Amino acid sequence: PAEAELEALQDADVARLLPAPGAESDKYRRGVVGIAAGSARYPGAAVLAVAGALRGGAGAVRYAGPAGDEVLARFPETLVSDGGPRKAGRVQAWVVGPGVGDDADAVAEVLEADVPVLVDADGLRLADRDAVRGRTAPTLMTPHAGEAAALLGVRREEVEAARLAAVRELAASYRATVLLKGATTLVAAPEVGSVAVRVNATGTPWLATAGSGDVLSGLAGSLLASGLDGRDAGSVAAYLHGLAGRFAAEGAPTVAHAVADELGAAWRGVFPSG
Ligand code: AMP
Ligand code: MG
Repeated sequence: PAEAELEALQDADVARLLPAPGAESDKYRRGVVGIAAGSARYPGAAVLAVAGALRGGAGAVRYAGPAGDEVLARFPETLVSDGGPRKAGRVQAWVVGPGVGDDADAVAEVLEADVPVLVDADGLRLADRDAVRGRTAPTLMTPHAGEAAALLGVRREEVEAARLAAVRELAASYRATVLLKGATTLVAAPEVGSVAVRVNATGTPWLATAGSGDVLSGLAGSLLASGLDGRDAGSVAAYLHGLAGRFAAEGAPTVAHAVADELGAAWRGVFPSG
């Protein structure tokens, strides 16, 4: 039915979906999210993905990659391991890709893990399509229009002209949940046709700034580790990230780490008591 094709979350939906620890919770039961991001060339992507992950509700953030010193200098609460994702220890979800450059091994290792995986940025270019399709645990891919175009083998303008068709085609082709970023964000589940595509427009054009997407990846990965499914994790992350972007910008240029700093305010803001 046409009315079920698209749906937008409201504050109350997000409040219901957000994880909340109870008396029985401990950091492991809340979920551990693994971040495989950054490189010698792009250590900042690791820092920003960790920043988003720390505000996403997981009980701990584990970082596996070459930017451990930079991550720890900024976020001493991170569990840093060296030696790649396979040796990093147990996590409930992985984020792979932001700033990894050409580290195809990290991407392949993460895709072998039997837990939900978010693939973004360089990871989208390096991920083998059959490896993604063959996964038994859920996959969430988070391209912007240019990355989506590269995955589809079309020009960026073609994606921009038919965003809904593009996100659905990618979801079906990769058997993954796909979050297509932009002024409005679309989230399509792999069960294309039977599940509504989520639309988010809480953001602001000031979010079009370097590193902004890395914060979103960490946030959505943390929600995956907390137990949300791919469509809920992606759409709730887009919702909060958009609000945090508005709070950080307030009508003036902002920066990605400031967006991460506003995620707590965005989270509180969806609850009736504020
Ligand atoms: P990335 O391109 O990976 O850095 O991600 C950019 C982030 O900013 C995504 O969350 C986009 O949805 C968001 N964004 C980019 N441009 C706009 C825009 N014009 N309006 C609202 N959000 C935007
Ligand atoms: Mg990006």
